[in-house]
Amino acid sequence: MTIWNLGSINADLVYDVPHLPGPGETLAASGMSRGLGGKGANMSVAAARAGGRVAHVGAVGADGQWMVQRLLEYGVDTRFIGEVDAVSGHAIIAVDTSGENLIIIHGGANRAISMDLVGRALAQAEAGDLFVTQNETNAQAEAARMARDLGLRVAYAAAPFDRDEVQAVLPLLDLLVLNEVEAQQLEAATGLAPDALPVADVIVTLGARGCRWYGAEGARDFPAFKVTPVDTTGAGDTFTGYVIAGIDRGLPMPQAIAQAMRAAAIMVTRHGTADVIPDLKDVQEAQF
Ligand code: AMP
Repeated sequence: MTIWNLGSINADLVYDVPHLPGPGETLAASGMSRGLGGKGANMSVAAARAGGRVAHVGAVGADGQWMVQRLLEYGVDTRFIGEVDAVSGHAIIAVDTSGENLIIIHGGANRAISMDLVGRALAQAEAGDLFVTQNETNAQAEAARMARDLGLRVAYAAAPFDRDEVQAVLPLLDLLVLNEVEAQQLEAATGLAPDALPVADVIVTLGARGCRWYGAEGARDFPAFKVTPVDTTGAGDTFTGYVIAGIDRGLPMPQAIAQAMRAAAIMVTRHGTADVIPDLKDVQEAQF
């Protein structure tokens, strides 16, 4: 089956600085690196590295073709990534010597995805395929409805949290993934705790404490693997990508979650995002 991911593609521009700049301050960076990121791209790479067949639906500007190339190198189908007349999505990240950071995100092309492109992509989908999305693009609710009408299973990571988006998408979902803060925000917005949501499977990730899955048989806890974290960026996206690839392969949910927890645990021991997501072999062979 194919995993269709309507998702963001961001350049992560990371600057090493002696301290975080204050108002009006100009600061020279001692180093700089550019990587592929964005929650959508991270999830596509994770699902592809987990062995899934993944088609990414999204948009970049003319300056973002290197990211499309990189997704292709990671085994993602990029035919439905459009080029639009906008700057590519990017994050400007300043990191000081103590590891403290400051981040500016610009959605850019990620917010200019046409429903025409989504329609052309999903016209290739087959019933039983999976559709997944997050909140760093436009059109997620409309696209999720289209996917559902076509008989696809629909998964959604409510990140970054957006009260209106999540409420629009909620009735369309088979799987919802939230972190702990998002789960609290959703409960504040709807009055519904995770076990009362109208979604077949809900997973709340709990950082170093693992995750809790709410399925047909009630709630079940999965403890995290014990690792020494160096950078938790992208751990949640890796987790979701791996869960989706597991479901796509027909794994029962507890096994899909267990594999995703292993992948996410490896991820927190690495610096970087999409470029360092482990493949299935690494995940299966890892000793914790
Ligand atoms: P979070 O988005 O922080 O809830 O993390 C997503 C997933 O990444 C968790 O469900 C864990 O599987 C994994 N994870 C995050 N932080 C850690 C950690 N410090 N140690 C081990 N696993 C972690």
